[in-house]
Amino acid sequence: MAEKRDFYEILGVSRNATKEELKKAYRQMAIKYHPDKNPGDKEAEEKFKEAAEAYEVLSDDNKRARYDQFGHAGMSNSGGGGFGHDWTIDDIFSQFGDIFGGHFGSFGGFGGFGGSSRGRSHRTTRGTDLRVKVKLNLKEIANGVEKKIKVNKYVPCQSCHGTGAANGSGYSTCSTCRGTGYVTRVANTILGQMQTSSPCPTCNGEGKIITNKCTACNGEGVIRDSEVITIKIPAGVAEGMQLNVSGKGNAARRGGVPGDLLVVIEEEKHPELIRDGNDLIYNLSISIPDAILGAPVEIPTIEGKVKIKIEHGTQPGKILRLRGKGLPDVNGYSRGDLLVAVNVYIPKTLSKDEKTLMEKLSASPSFKPDPYEKTSFFEKMRGYFE
Ligand SMILES: [Zn+2]
Ligand SMILES: [Zn+2]
Repeated sequence: MAEKRDFYEILGVSRNATKEELKKAYRQMAIKYHPDKNPGDKEAEEKFKEAAEAYEVLSDDNKRARYDQFGHAGMSNSGGGGFGHDWTIDDIFSQFGDIFGGHFGSFGGFGGFGGSSRGRSHRTTRGTDLRVKVKLNLKEIANGVEKKIKVNKYVPCQSCHGTGAANGSGYSTCSTCRGTGYVTRVANTILGQMQTSSPCPTCNGEGKIITNKCTACNGEGVIRDSEVITIKIPAGVAEGMQLNVSGKGNAARRGGVPGDLLVVIEEEKHPELIRDGNDLIYNLSISIPDAILGAPVEIPTIEGKVKIKIEHGTQPGKILRLRGKGLPDVNGYSRGDLLVAVNVYIPKTLSKDEKTLMEKLSASPSFKPDPYEKTSFFEKMRGYFE
């Protein structure tokens, strides 16, 4: 094998290129040397593979560090990581397909890179994924819920049962390429005879043509419509979590595999309860007399109000823990608590009588602060977190 070129040189970036720069450089190379753009061009294919190999190493922090220190020598006995194997075009697509996303992929198309001229006629097409947001309140999150949502998407055409062919007409093998999906051409060049192949223009590389296109879908096999989908959401989910509903995305052209429906969870704010992981926090304000004398109070929980007793002599900043009144863990192993953070309300204005009363109390020895009592909210919170 010929001497390997420097990976940075291959991608045309400096040695301190950022990940973004690497990605951008690789993307440009990949587009330039893409096999679909250079059918049958062995040199382009080699360049395409070379860039993939360089990117595979440089985009991985560990491999990049090893390469920076030892060069190619540090790679050969790396003990795994997929380095050093012979890349095939399919490997590259499966490993870096996301890099190309959107550039070659199109709706219901060839699943990102099914578009490779080599594999097109053999590959199963796949519909694109769809993303929807679902807003849930705390009660729904606590118990889990089933949601029915209407999704606008591509569905199989009913008229032709997703085949794209008008009733009974079916497909016939493309006569231009005899079903192979590509055409080869032999050209005489100064280097001798060169054989090039490119996707068949008659059948767009599919190897077959529809005898009689379905008029409802214009031969695509799919039409734009909507579907009501029932989604089972487990208890304990949180804002930003994503559920994958397999096969409920866009239908693929002409009977391929449908994409997935990605459900993103949005959390509705509860008017009184604050979520902290699986715990819930409720800020309770009580009056000075209630803090001193003790009193029954009502606390909101997800399942409705519960009565608890405030002990006499309760300090501001006290945290009461109602075990198991929080949210279930999404993995189903445990359940959080409801933490009641007690605040004592200090009135800002007083009547004349109240003021006289307070002045009397301030002279009373019981109202002198105890310097050893930990009343600071900060200390209480630390106690809670420790
Ligand atoms: Zn149709
Ligand atoms: Zn053809």
